[in-house]
Amino acid sequence: MSPAPRGPAEAYPMLPPATALEIVLQHARPLEAEEVEAADALGRVLAADVRSEEDYPAAPRSSVDGYAVRAADREPRRRVIGEVTAGHPSAVEVGPGTAQRIMTGGVVPPGADAVVMIEDTRDGDGVVELLKPVAPGQCIHPTGMDIQRGQVILPAGTAIGPAEIGLLATIGRVRVPVHRRPRVAVLSTGDEVVEWTEQPGPGQVRDSNRPALIAAVREAGGVPISLGRALDREEDQRALITRGAREADVVITSGGVSMGARDLIKPILAQLGTVHVGRINFKPGKPLTFATIGSTLVFGLPGFPVSSLVTFEVFVRPALRALQGFAQVTRPEVPVVLEHEVKPDPVRPEYQRAIVRVVGGELRATTTGAQTSSRLLSMVGANALLKIAPGSEPLPAGARVPALLIGEPRHG
Ligand code: AMP
Ligand code: MG
Repeated sequence: MSPAPRGPAEAYPMLPPATALEIVLQHARPLEAEEVEAADALGRVLAADVRSEEDYPAAPRSSVDGYAVRAADREPRRRVIGEVTAGHPSAVEVGPGTAQRIMTGGVVPPGADAVVMIEDTRDGDGVVELLKPVAPGQCIHPTGMDIQRGQVILPAGTAIGPAEIGLLATIGRVRVPVHRRPRVAVLSTGDEVVEWTEQPGPGQVRDSNRPALIAAVREAGGVPISLGRALDREEDQRALITRGAREADVVITSGGVSMGARDLIKPILAQLGTVHVGRINFKPGKPLTFATIGSTLVFGLPGFPVSSLVTFEVFVRPALRALQGFAQVTRPEVPVVLEHEVKPDPVRPEYQRAIVRVVGGELRATTTGAQTSSRLLSMVGANALLKIAPGSEPLPAGARVPALLIGEPRHG
């Protein structure tokens, strides 16, 4: 028989991180759509297919500066009867033995079926001489070459970047449906935690979790709401979490989820909703808690600053991305080579913070120093979380380990 749980935390099974993430993502379905200006849609995800109602180009256009001609004419000398510049189409027909000067982007005039680039001509006295044979269609971008009317140019689920905005502008799509951004309420807990603008008294610490988590929410595409701080008093924490669940799609608390006498978050969440994850086999952040209150996702992150940011990165960020409709919600996992020996935790899988560089076509990882969960400096500048399996033996320099890339690898 297993020993009776000593406290609320022990009532929950210790889940592998991958299982915990799976459970979180089962509850993180894309939020409903809203219409936004395409110009403001950077970083959003399309909630429906975008179809073009037009051909692009709308008419055949010259791809070079040169002369619009009839390919079938035999005579290399053509009489120049006009000029077409971009934005100024010509109604004058290119008849047999004639040509019109045309600039890049100019609409190919009626009668012409080819353009000869200026470099392949000699001109003077109102006549142009073509120096090479002419093939029909040459140097012409035909109607609908890039986009055809009725074509889905951007499918639902597309993440909108600069090129997508350009494409929407090309077809005149001024407004687009995108998934709503999640509202994310952030609460700090702890009798010892004071406002970071205050001078901490004996035993007190400044609240660094809230500003850090609010920034992390913003970086992940969420809209942060600050719920402030709560003392380690059940009524206070319950009231603020209830408010968060009402006003937000996601609530993130920090502190109060472990085994201490004043760790109240798990029982409060169990009372207000359903706790799906109560412990994970993970360092730093074993007591990570995930619950739902109605349709609101609630993450109880541990209080230590590194634990809260690492668990945010591994469990909360993917949920925030999924709510926005991103197809890819986790960071890329890649093999990296250790630059030095790394000591694993004897029992728990550990996500160690590191700086990864591209050296000779390979990713090489250097630690950010002491990995204590209070030491935020171990997270500063980190662009990777090394997934170090538990063990008693140190991993030697040169060993290959999997890593989550949380930032761009450095080069050089
Ligand atoms: P807890 O998970 O509540 O036991 O908190 C663990 C430790 O994390 C506390 O002893 C504090 O040192 C630190 N801590 C908790 N909340 C915060 C916060 N909001 N900002 C900075 N440090 C915190
Ligand atoms: Mg606490």
